[in-house]
Amino acid sequence: MGQVMTANVLDTQARAGLARRRLDILLQAAQRAPLNRQRLSAAGAAQPLEAIEPLKRAELMARFDESVTDPDIQLESVRAFIADPQRIGDAYLGRHAIWTSSGSTGSPGIFVHDTLALSIYDALECLRFCANPLLARKSAWPWALPGGGLPDLGFAPRLALLAATDGHFAGVASLTRLLRLSPMSSHRIHIISILQPLDLIVEALNQFQPEVIASYPSAAGLLAQEQLCGRLDIAPRAFWLGGEQSASTLHSTLEQAFHCQVREAYGASECLSIGWSCAEGVIHINDDWVILEPVDEYDRPVDPGQRSHTVLLTNLANQVQPLIRYDLGDSLTVLEQPCRCGSSFPAVVIEGRRDDVIALEGEQGSVQVLPLALVTVLEDEAGAFNFQLIARGPHTLELRLDVSQPSAALQALRAACHRALSEYLQRCGLQQIQIVDGPCGPAQDARSGKVRRVINACPP
Ligand SMILES: [Zn+2]
Repeated sequence: MGQVMTANVLDTQARAGLARRRLDILLQAAQRAPLNRQRLSAAGAAQPLEAIEPLKRAELMARFDESVTDPDIQLESVRAFIADPQRIGDAYLGRHAIWTSSGSTGSPGIFVHDTLALSIYDALECLRFCANPLLARKSAWPWALPGGGLPDLGFAPRLALLAATDGHFAGVASLTRLLRLSPMSSHRIHIISILQPLDLIVEALNQFQPEVIASYPSAAGLLAQEQLCGRLDIAPRAFWLGGEQSASTLHSTLEQAFHCQVREAYGASECLSIGWSCAEGVIHINDDWVILEPVDEYDRPVDPGQRSHTVLLTNLANQVQPLIRYDLGDSLTVLEQPCRCGSSFPAVVIEGRRDDVIALEGEQGSVQVLPLALVTVLEDEAGAFNFQLIARGPHTLELRLDVSQPSAALQALRAACHRALSEYLQRCGLQQIQIVDGPCGPAQDARSGKVRRVINACPP
């Protein structure tokens, strides 16, 4: 807690020194895991970080038992642990957290975090995210609830987590763990499954009247629609978004619907607290606990201002399963200019985190279309939030909208989406693209419950 608090006031250079010392400690710990020992040995004696071969999720999972520094951890028993939803939030072997990823970018991953890492994530959430000046007096810190092991920093509001609740995902598992530590706080925290019908979610939220809602951007957009049409009637002070990319227009829609602050968390099952957005809506990276290397498709460094193909994560907080130059799969751009909020923590824009870039055929040849652009067009110009765009071929986009809404509303929304998309595609030199209406509504990922909004289903 103290180390996180101190680093809040350090400059970039001082934090880099801290990160280097933590990296040395991590590399030492990593020698106890055969997979990492081999990777470090191949990098040579000097072991500069850049000399270590990047690690893909598939290799980590194939050599899972060799990736951990606690020999009692075995994939077979880990699999039995995560097969049991009753054990979400429990400590595996009485001492570690196990989090899974949804598998949206390939095969699902399983990640082990030690108690020191959990306390660092807790401290980062509590002191850096929640201590954001705009949130400090009015928002939440479940991490500071009585009995939670952290100092009670003040008012603990009613927090609703709207998420996939049936898996050992980082968000729900973390909150369940905190609830176990602090059962007295259970009346102030409500975990709601996103897989249930929308009217039940709305009913649960109306009843609970949360002051803070944590969820995915796509779910938050839906809630804004429900609030604006009057079915949902809540007055949250803050929305915390995470797990998917969101268009900047979503923030203004949420602010308009709820008159509340909106913050985005950048975390993963590999590291819960990579960064958070500031008041300017820009994500800042906790560079004292995380090393992020944006790289191109050949794992070469990408300069600030350039969009990366992927990003390599080194998690300095967790020693039980050292993740060193781990391919996170996210595409991001480090901003060249300092953020207007004044923070010295590196500022990044995350692009295409879950959605696909699609290639469409125009008169002048193939055009790459960014998912964030399509999402923004549909949100901002057509007022659609619950949608899915699927590229079926180089000339065909399938548009899926919520088909359960009244027919007249659906027709109007369809027309608005077609118009906005056609205009945008024309601006991109894509006059000949056919937009067809899908036979059903957007499909959720079967495990995570999240909606990928732009999908490339073109044959390779
Ligand atoms: Zn900022």
